[in-house]
Amino acid sequence: MTKKSPQTTLIHSDYRAPAGFDAFPTAIHHASTVLFKDVASMRASDWKNKDAYTYGLHGTPTTFTLEARLAEIEGGNHCLLAPSGLAAISMVDLALLKSGDDVLLPDNVYNPNRELGRWLSSDFGITARFYDPLVGAGIADLIQPNTRLVWTEAPGSVSMEVPDLRAISDAAHAKGVLVALDNTWAAGLALRGFDVGADIVMQALTKYQSGGSDVLMGAVITRERALNDRIAQAHMRLGLGVGADDAYLVLRGLETMQLRFDAHDRAAREVAAWLKARPEIARVLHPAFDDCPGHETWKRDFTGAGGLFSVLFDARYTEEQTDRFVDALHLFGIGYSWGGTHSLAVPYRIQAMRRGWSDAGILVRFNIGLEAVDDLIADLEQAFAHLS
Ligand SMILES: *Cc1c(COP(=O)(O)O)cnc(C)c1O
Repeated sequence: MTKKSPQTTLIHSDYRAPAGFDAFPTAIHHASTVLFKDVASMRASDWKNKDAYTYGLHGTPTTFTLEARLAEIEGGNHCLLAPSGLAAISMVDLALLKSGDDVLLPDNVYNPNRELGRWLSSDFGITARFYDPLVGAGIADLIQPNTRLVWTEAPGSVSMEVPDLRAISDAAHAKGVLVALDNTWAAGLALRGFDVGADIVMQALTKYQSGGSDVLMGAVITRERALNDRIAQAHMRLGLGVGADDAYLVLRGLETMQLRFDAHDRAAREVAAWLKARPEIARVLHPAFDDCPGHETWKRDFTGAGGLFSVLFDARYTEEQTDRFVDALHLFGIGYSWGGTHSLAVPYRIQAMRRGWSDAGILVRFNIGLEAVDDLIADLEQAFAHLS
């Protein structure tokens, strides 16, 4: 080859680092273009084949490694990554639903999923209907000939009812309907979705998997190859790639996820028990506590609970008073999402969110982070003084 100009030399170098490097972290591969060794191998390539690489959007060693680890934790065989948990949810809907179809969603579903359902109904000729999360086997009565998908969420991440996933799955499968589970709360640790009958398990990796409140990502995990391939078509058509650095952060978070999850779980139960004894609190909505609807189902199916739960204030307190309580907290941030090291508190207007919600009290949801429990309790105690 003729001598290259400095400008070309800056871009084309003959140096190759020696092969054989090994270390614990998964390498971060940044790539849009993936290089083929010749035209024949480019022509022979297939984006669906995960034994090889075609284009950054369809996978790199970094994203394939993350997919494989997530599938393994959940007990599935295939995994697709999306740039947020919500993108993972919409990918499932767009893959499996078409005009004329019907989808069932629990009435306590993650609110943006409800919003997506409304959009499918208003603009895409798909009906989205909402069911009582405690419906159990009664879901059979709601399934129509055009129902294609039943979404479940365990528990609903604001009002915390634990659905009977086995009963819902059995009834749906008897009618040939697929079941998708939003398993973000249990992270594939406290519940493995396929064990209770889900066909598709979705997780917001934004929560415990990343663990740092610094990444948005979602995953869709399946066991059946044909089902994965249908969802993969939507993944490709919608162009739902994830960034290499973000994938790395989730891979790094996974190694400590079980330890963090267990620590969140222990701390949340302590804080919830303390709150339950307070006269200001009417009910604690934590699946491990018996005032939580679906508590018996949680005991049967789950092995843990993580750090997220809600409380209902006594009905004598106004929203103005409970807002003052939340504002007075020092260690609890006010903000959405959860699963990170920092504790959070968010008031919800639950009566406006749900059909037939009978409790009058104000709902506040807590994410218990990894701060010392005594400090969190002292903070809550001083905030209670601001109620009146
Ligand atoms: C956070 C969350 C999502 C969405 O995840 P994002 O990454 O924030 O889009 C979906 N479902 C549940 C239950 C969640 O808590």
